[in-house]
Amino acid sequence: MSDLNKLTLAGARDKLRSKDVSSVELTEACLNAIEGSNALNAFVHNTPEIAMEQAKAADARIAAGDAPAMCGLPIGIKDLFCTKGVPSQAASGILEGFKPEYESTVSQNLFDDGAVMLGKLNMDEFAMGSSNETSVYGNAVNPWRRGNDDAPLTPGGSSGGSASAVAADLCLAATGTDTGGSIRQPAAFTGITGIKPTYGRCSRWGIVAFASSLDQAGPMTKDVRDAAIMLETMCGHDPKDSTSMDLAVPNFEAMLTGDIKGKKIGIPKEYRMDGMPEEIEQLWADGTAMMKAAGAEIVDISLPHTKYALPAYYVIAPAEASSNLARYDGVKYGHRATLEAGDGITEMYEKTRAEGFGSEVQRRVMVGTYVLSAGFYDAYYNRARRVRALIKKDFDDVFAAGVDAILTPATPSAAFGLGEMTDADPVQMYLNDVFTVTVNLAGLPGIAIPTGLDKQGLPLGLQLIGRPWEEGDLLNCAYALESAAGFVEKPGKWW
Ligand code: GLN
Repeated sequence: MSDLNKLTLAGARDKLRSKDVSSVELTEACLNAIEGSNALNAFVHNTPEIAMEQAKAADARIAAGDAPAMCGLPIGIKDLFCTKGVPSQAASGILEGFKPEYESTVSQNLFDDGAVMLGKLNMDEFAMGSSNETSVYGNAVNPWRRGNDDAPLTPGGSSGGSASAVAADLCLAATGTDTGGSIRQPAAFTGITGIKPTYGRCSRWGIVAFASSLDQAGPMTKDVRDAAIMLETMCGHDPKDSTSMDLAVPNFEAMLTGDIKGKKIGIPKEYRMDGMPEEIEQLWADGTAMMKAAGAEIVDISLPHTKYALPAYYVIAPAEASSNLARYDGVKYGHRATLEAGDGITEMYEKTRAEGFGSEVQRRVMVGTYVLSAGFYDAYYNRARRVRALIKKDFDDVFAAGVDAILTPATPSAAFGLGEMTDADPVQMYLNDVFTVTVNLAGLPGIAIPTGLDKQGLPLGLQLIGRPWEEGDLLNCAYALESAAGFVEKPGKWW
């Protein structure tokens, strides 16, 4: 059978169980697709030997009648996840040559269930960015293009390689991570589905830390059903992460009934931004109408502190990053600068960090160090933390008033051109996260799903934000919206 790489996780799982295909065949189809995909720069370390070995083991498990949901399914892993014996660089020069001695809990959960790793995926350096342009490997490229224009577009960031690979059918699904929108924004830019679960659902152990109070892993998939299947495998309590929640993981797929009758869906007025493209307004209005037609009750809500979310995020995330990145000192991991006679340990740190970190990472370390410094701690960091508490309270109040989920646009625009923002003020790039960072600050689950195309033929996504720990319900709302929107478009193959 050809085009096995184009299957969804659910489709491939069913074919594996009915013995219509083998994991080896699925894996070979993906490896072939990856081979022809250099122009996308999505996979940055290929692991075909590991993949074939895991595929054979999965086939044996399936033959023995022991096949968990992810068994035999070929996926890609974001470079931020430590994978044992396999380069794990967080797309940074400072981790060049680093091969972890351990496996992240999330990737281990996937492998325990029989998933097959095809390789590591491109991303922004240390997951800082919204366009995949801060990667030491160079940017990943979006498989979508505007109309007949062949200008290369960003797949979004930071999980740009994951998004590009899934949208281009190089793998059946991929892992992503989301600190301020890095699963949902690239998913929206590439016409795929991405869910960031509640903070604490997925273990952070073995995932290179960016901003520890915001980071969460999640699946990036071809549809909502696949997101449910993969999320269930990825999450679960982990004693190695003190912020991991000890809570039973439901069967998310079984919760996809599509029935949202009587659900209260909130439409927050603060997400109606000045200068938002008309097409995004329309997409949002259409999505609202679809949920209403499916039986949901639509209510106008207010999240009054929304406008402070981006400034608070761009204090808190750099503060935590500056502390987390202090460990890259040229001693414990990866790169160390060549020293000159007379250089001491201070020069070693300085030269190593100046060479190893890219400019966006350096900017974040400097901002973070500044806002944590003795003289400014109260004015910036503590104030941002108070703002964060207010943002969380906005959501708590709305949920306490009976709202089940909140519908918003996922991004303020469609995918933009690579290089288009390079000379812009960095704040322009930060504005990409305007609809997503609130969700991380409040620790809530959020999902982006594609619901339409813009005038230039590029995918646009909507976001649903759910109650904490109720990913099953959130996935079901997304499933109802997905069914109503009927988005089936794929990028035309040019690579
Ligand atoms: N774009 C945001 C940032 O640069 C979010 C990144 C992320 O979610 N990892 O910080």
